Amino acid sequence: MSQKRVAAIKIEDDPEGYPLGAFCIPAHYADYLEKIIIPLGVVKDRTEKLARDIVEDIGDGPIVALCVLKGGHQFFHDLLEWIQIIGRTSTKNIMQIRVDFIRLKSYVNEESTGEVQIIGNDDLNGIRGRNVLVVEDIVDTGKTMEKLLGELKKYEPKMVKVASLLTKRSKARIHGQAYTPEYVGFDVPKKFVVGYSLDYNEYFRDLGHICLINEKGKEKFKSD
Ligand code: 5GP
Repeated sequence: MSQKRVAAIKIEDDPEGYPLGAFCIPAHYADYLEKIIIPLGVVKDRTEKLARDIVEDIGDGPIVALCVLKGGHQFFHDLLEWIQIIGRTSTKNIMQIRVDFIRLKSYVNEESTGEVQIIGNDDLNGIRGRNVLVVEDIVDTGKTMEKLLGELKKYEPKMVKVASLLTKRSKARIHGQAYTPEYVGFDVPKKFVVGYSLDYNEYFRDLGHICLINEKGKEKFKSD
């Protein structure tokens, strides 16, 4: 019997998390983090499950996997690796994957600028008539993804699904009024998170675990 899917793993509003000393942290960030809220190993295990769900749903034909840079690159890499592992250990014909990349920017420090800029992309004509899997790091208000989905629509893809490692909890999302992706790893509280290629002004991408940044870190790495 297959087990019921979990829409997203909920990380509590004031998560106890894990002390920094419980796992390995690069020395250059050790003083600037409050705690670890999702260790890298848990991220990877959850990614394996999302890959299985995706293959189960749309795994019988070719797809274009579209990575939203820069924050989505680590998740994109790990998710595609799992999909390939599932493919080569299956007797069925599992999805053939093409990759594409797009770059968006909307945040300075911890604040959304309210404007979403598409600041670089491949020729999106490659998605015309194809099934597309957009891979993103985090969906907060959903504005960024709505803007991107609007852009993609212009190229008339056959189908678009979105996988995001994280969503941020908001009243709007709880009430079904905020855009929510089809595949979500973890639902995190309304706090700024870094690590696993999520940045604070380009810092912390080289940190494996997903962590909360402390006040000293916000000050040290703030944008000037
Ligand atoms: P939205 O448009 O959904 O409000 O914001 C989504 C974008 O904001 C993400 O693609 C990401 O770049 C950025 N973002 C939102 N929350 C966080 C966060 O907690 N940490 C980091 N590093 N980026 C965030």
